[in-house]
Amino acid sequence: MKLKKSLSILLLGVLVVACSTNPFTGKQTLALVPNSQILPMAFQQYNEFLSENKVVTGTAEANMVKNVGQKIASAAERYLTANGYAGYLTEYRWEYNLVNSPEVNAWCMPGGKIVVYTGILPITKDEAGLAAVMGHEVAHALANHGQQRMSAGQLQQLGAVAGNIALSGDAQNQQIFNTAYGLGSNLGVMLPFSRSHEIEADHIGLILMAIAGYDPIVSAELWQRMQAQESGNKPPEFLSTHPSSATRIQNIRTWAPEARAEARKFGVTTFKK
Ligand SMILES: [Zn+2]
Repeated sequence: MKLKKSLSILLLGVLVVACSTNPFTGKQTLALVPNSQILPMAFQQYNEFLSENKVVTGTAEANMVKNVGQKIASAAERYLTANGYAGYLTEYRWEYNLVNSPEVNAWCMPGGKIVVYTGILPITKDEAGLAAVMGHEVAHALANHGQQRMSAGQLQQLGAVAGNIALSGDAQNQQIFNTAYGLGSNLGVMLPFSRSHEIEADHIGLILMAIAGYDPIVSAELWQRMQAQESGNKPPEFLSTHPSSATRIQNIRTWAPEARAEARKFGVTTFKK
């Protein structure tokens, strides 16, 4: 019954496959799941996640996560508005929470729902390092990378080349959603972002952190610290979805001056390290 329903929705989907424009690259990307379906689901999943985990409030670290998050969000809004995408974030409901967990991880769901785990803080080290991680994660969300992963997951599941599926909130759809957004290591299946998505998120993330007033070169140092963790017996969760590499660090060094130049257009003249 369920398969039949999925297939009929799939056939319908073939007719309405949509594209959305990535505001940073101008590229058309395949968006098989519209925001109107994704965002309510993201908000629900986010609240569920918060209710099942230990949210840290009122500490200096929790406040730092909120502060840096707000600055990154405001940088995203300023950048998009300046580039002709003023309405792009209308449906975003930014939220920044620190969760008490040894897991080395951080993510941003579509709609601006961010979680930073306490386990990543020793590696981010300071405010600028945290801005590098949050800038990168927000960039994935803005560029709809999760959405594209979600679509890929669905296609895989349905064994089709194009399709759409109604997100009714049942277990199967939630599983696809969680896999696509790299939520919860307990699921065991976390897809890494593709190399092109990683490059895009690094590039956009540097611009965001620079506009937020942080020196983008800190990002190179952060990824070096990440890489140093990789040699341990169990690499951090964050690295299983965002593998570090010499190429990544080199790219960041090359792009840092360009990101600072971009930020100067927004009146940012000093960059916190
Ligand atoms: Zn990434």
